[in-house]
Amino acid sequence: MFADVAFPIRSFQTFTYSIPNEHASNIYIGTRVSVPFRNKAIQGIVVNIKKNNSYLGPIKKIIEPVDKVQVITLPLWDLIRWVSKYYMTPIGKVANSVVPKSLSSNFQPQLEKHVKAKKNNNLDTVIKLKKTAPKQFLVYKIISEKDIAHKVSSFKNIVSNPLQICISLKDKGLIKLINKIKLPDINQSVFEPVFKDIVFNRDQTIVINKISLALKKNNFNSFLLHGVTGSGKTEIYIEVVRNCLAQKKTAIVLLPEISLTPQIAGRFRAVFGDVVAIWHSKLKSSQRSWTWGKICTGDFKIVIGARSAIFSPLKNVGLIIVDEEQESSFYQDSKEPRYHARDVALMRGSFEKSTVLVASATPSLESYYNFQQKKIEYLRLPKRYGVAKYPKVHIVDMLSNQEETGKFDQVISGLLQDKIEEKLNKKEQIILIQNRRGFSPTVKCNDCGAHVMCSQCKVALTYHKNNNKLVCHFCSFSIVNDKLVCQECRNSKLIYSGTGTQKVEQLIQQTFPKSKICRLDMDTSKSSMGITSVLKSFSNQEFDILIGTQMVAKGLDFPNATLVGIINADLGLYLPDFRATEKVFQLIYQASGRAGRSTKKGEVVIQTYSPNSSVIKNAKNLNIAKFYENELVDREELNYPPYSWLAKVEFVGPNQPSLLSLIEKFKHNLKGIYTGLDVLGPAPCFLEKLKNNYRFQLVFKSKKQIDPNGIYLHKFIRKNFKNYNNKKLLGQNKINIYFDPISLI
Ligand SMILES: [Zn+2]
Ligand SMILES: [Zn+2]
Repeated sequence: MFADVAFPIRSFQTFTYSIPNEHASNIYIGTRVSVPFRNKAIQGIVVNIKKNNSYLGPIKKIIEPVDKVQVITLPLWDLIRWVSKYYMTPIGKVANSVVPKSLSSNFQPQLEKHVKAKKNNNLDTVIKLKKTAPKQFLVYKIISEKDIAHKVSSFKNIVSNPLQICISLKDKGLIKLINKIKLPDINQSVFEPVFKDIVFNRDQTIVINKISLALKKNNFNSFLLHGVTGSGKTEIYIEVVRNCLAQKKTAIVLLPEISLTPQIAGRFRAVFGDVVAIWHSKLKSSQRSWTWGKICTGDFKIVIGARSAIFSPLKNVGLIIVDEEQESSFYQDSKEPRYHARDVALMRGSFEKSTVLVASATPSLESYYNFQQKKIEYLRLPKRYGVAKYPKVHIVDMLSNQEETGKFDQVISGLLQDKIEEKLNKKEQIILIQNRRGFSPTVKCNDCGAHVMCSQCKVALTYHKNNNKLVCHFCSFSIVNDKLVCQECRNSKLIYSGTGTQKVEQLIQQTFPKSKICRLDMDTSKSSMGITSVLKSFSNQEFDILIGTQMVAKGLDFPNATLVGIINADLGLYLPDFRATEKVFQLIYQASGRAGRSTKKGEVVIQTYSPNSSVIKNAKNLNIAKFYENELVDREELNYPPYSWLAKVEFVGPNQPSLLSLIEKFKHNLKGIYTGLDVLGPAPCFLEKLKNNYRFQLVFKSKKQIDPNGIYLHKFIRKNFKNYNNKKLLGQNKINIYFDPISLI
């Protein structure tokens, strides 16, 4: 027998090896094997097994299989092949980004002490306890309230010596002590489990029944769940995952960003306990290997994580949930394979014959269009859960506000300031969003007006006050502020303009000196621990005001937060991208959803310089249908998705003339241009120079009317860019290909 083996390299070539008899029963398609290659032993993946071999040269033998368990199931292997073909990435590269480098892990998770109440306890002992040992009684009461395992350390905030107290209770025969493994997650960043008693309303019940019915059919089914913010989507996820597990199947839950994972993962851990694995690129490699191994052996039944969790090796996947499917973080654009995890999820669903649920409060235009085209079944939660009401939304026209007050550098309007004061007095919490980090996003010369730019990227530097540095947000370049002079005229007087989150924080602190403020953006949350601890503290009401970028706008649930302020809603509105308005709408709509998620009524203040823009107006009225209607008309007129298939080919290189001549060569030689295909460019990318590399792009739009499944476009790109990774042809330059890119900037 022979095996074709692929390696994680920039080529599509595979190599044939013979399978030694002693390993024949342990080598399948998808097995990792150790093979001799240029006098070294390296790892590859078996991509085909065949009886005969047509290659006439010398054939080497596979040394041995690398793993004892099957690391890739057949449907997962089908998926890897599909990703390789659809996104034009060598299969070994795809497989390599999916499977951890080594599955042999010496990682040993820690053990944690838990307690559980025994059933049928002697009531007399308990009554006696109340009198003789009130502290033990207090702890016992909490333990006995619910039939679940409590972490011993969780009683730390009630008693000083929780372990001793629990041992006494155990000696009295009231509770059991259990050792449980501490599951690896992102620096222990999962929120403590939250238990909620949920009574489903009518809308939720309909949704649950439909999904559960589909789950029973063992067929591929896909749903778009459009639920307004606060409509109780997480509760639905938990219920349908419960149904899925009851049918002896497994489930994958994809969440867009690390900042969302903790709350939802905490809820899942509370309900399902130890069968929940957290999968994220920030796990240490030993933890990844350990987790992957436990998924392979079936110890984990549910995998929750960011986009790469879609490739987890669960067997018999019944349900895949993609929460906040419109989020751009589902698209991996920084490295190959460049893929959209939502689309990969739908494809995995079809290979596994499972149910796929993509959900959002603000579905992407693509998903909304798919529902209109009846390609996906539409489920709706039109009302907020329970007594939560929609917030009242105020729009502040910053231009006329400035004319009235005469303050032209005003960041916080009078109305927003009054509202903040009002909420502070009522001991309610406030969330302020400014979608720009740093202190001053632009620094200009007072004399000649030149912006201070990064020397390696054609990007303005942002002033960060805390370390007194000007920082490039795209490379690691930074420069100490004091040493700075204008790069054009050597003048040392500089103007700091624009408003970042740090500046908002300083202004608010000056205006409300007694308030307790926390900030969340890429700077404060370098580690996921940072994010979770900030969110936990805000959720425990240790802070009055949370200031942040769009990171704080989505998915989070703070019942006491009743005011959301958007400092500048126009940021991003005029970016040269077809998705610019969609993103602004989503930000405002989602941010509004943070206000008033319990019995208290919420308010939203939107500050804008474009109060008459239809996007801002529709977002204010929470009129999502009208927004889709307008936006779809624009997209159709300009032939953008969802009315066309899109591919972006990016050329990157350190030498501009060499790069441009390469692009011209490709463009000049384009073959097979068909009616319905638009070729745009070459044009400089929005970020024209990054890290000393120039960047240009060609964009291809293929009309769906002519190319309904995108097959023409894929064929065209494969044919014309098959040499996209040929080093001889490219020299120092690189070509990156993006199918269905999330943006053109
Ligand atoms: Zn100057
Ligand atoms: Zn830079």
